[in-house]
Amino acid sequence: MKADALKWIDAHQDEMRAVNKIIWELAEPPLQEFGSSATLANWLEQNGFRVQKNVANLPTAFVAQYGEGKPVIGVLAEFDALPGMSQQAAPERIARVGVNAGHACGHSLFGTGSTAAALAVQNVLAREKSHGTIRLYGTPAEETGQGKMLMAMAGAFDDVDILLSWHAAGETKTTFEYSKALVSARFTFHGVAAHAAVSPHEGKSALDAVELMNVGVNFLREHVKEDSRIHYVITDGGGQPNVVPPRAQVWYYIRANKFFDVHRLFERVVNIARGAAMMTDTRMEYEVESESPEVLPNRPLAEIVQRNLESVGAPKFSDEEKEFARQTQRDLPVKPAQPLAEQVEPLAEKPTQGNYSTDVGWVSWNVPTIALTTACYAFGAPGHSWQIVACSGTTIGEKGMRVAAKALASTALDLLNDAEIIAAARADFAKRKEGIEFKTLMGKKGE
Ligand SMILES: [Zn+2]
Repeated sequence: MKADALKWIDAHQDEMRAVNKIIWELAEPPLQEFGSSATLANWLEQNGFRVQKNVANLPTAFVAQYGEGKPVIGVLAEFDALPGMSQQAAPERIARVGVNAGHACGHSLFGTGSTAAALAVQNVLAREKSHGTIRLYGTPAEETGQGKMLMAMAGAFDDVDILLSWHAAGETKTTFEYSKALVSARFTFHGVAAHAAVSPHEGKSALDAVELMNVGVNFLREHVKEDSRIHYVITDGGGQPNVVPPRAQVWYYIRANKFFDVHRLFERVVNIARGAAMMTDTRMEYEVESESPEVLPNRPLAEIVQRNLESVGAPKFSDEEKEFARQTQRDLPVKPAQPLAEQVEPLAEKPTQGNYSTDVGWVSWNVPTIALTTACYAFGAPGHSWQIVACSGTTIGEKGMRVAAKALASTALDLLNDAEIIAAARADFAKRKEGIEFKTLMGKKGE
């Protein structure tokens, strides 16, 4: 069955290339992925999947499934691009004309590879008339951390047994790793406008409040755990200097290795915002816009993925592809040891700790989840960089995507045919959550 799935992927590599190209060129930012979402949904629909659109009232979210009954194996697909990251599929920094966004996180490959994996599994299921359901989740807006969270809150993951995911990367590896937990919140201050020269004494500056809040948070940094990260941007700092700003807003990301540490930090940040409002005699309101808890790793699933990755093998690249990758590495401050990684990394004994956050974290607290990465771009290229956009639009990214599709399809078939692996994955999942009551700040508003 696995061999058949791999054959399907090889036989459809031109189709995969075409789909990746469409999504790569569209480069649609979060929640505006209309063409990308439709391209994947249509591909699935034409091949006999039942597609449910507008999931969780998100126009670009969809769930497609094929087969009947248990187990239900889900594969996650993402397809949003990053604003401001326009880049040609060239080994130097050149933006595309008239295009603002770019696939600087490789999500065109992510969406296409996951969908191909689901189609390859379906092809096997149809022929073998075997039991079980393969499901593809079209999850929008990963970059703003909203898609999977809202889909999970709407119950889209309630009846799925195992979730599989992957991501484009610099190396080929099973993701046996915790990510960081993240809370995203905006703080808005309301003051009183006045002429800044004629009657400054009548004004109450909302911008002063934002600045004082940021100063307070920067003093807080000395008293946070070392794994914490706090970063902000001022999204509204007033209109022009001769008007005392009546409204100002700052947007914060607060991270730590564990979600409960983020929650504690968040309370400290809210108190600082309250203090800033008091000092400036302004009014403050805040709203949590999204939350991603840390991803829960899963050992039994990691072992299966590792076996399948090793049996498929890491992508092998041509001399031209290596030369392309080497050229994209020219700007990097530290010269990477190799242009492209061509081996499968060994599985770590214990889960590692990543410094990124992902909305896969949310679903991983609902369903046992596993992910992998494949080499799709130059080794050592930083996340969200032009190098990733460039490589994602070439045969380098396509090769990594095919390896991912094969490893995902193989893993899905293992899970559809072996209830024991699912039981072991569920036991590991239960154990990692033991004694922790999952709570969320999502939707929390105040003052
Ligand atoms: Zn990403």
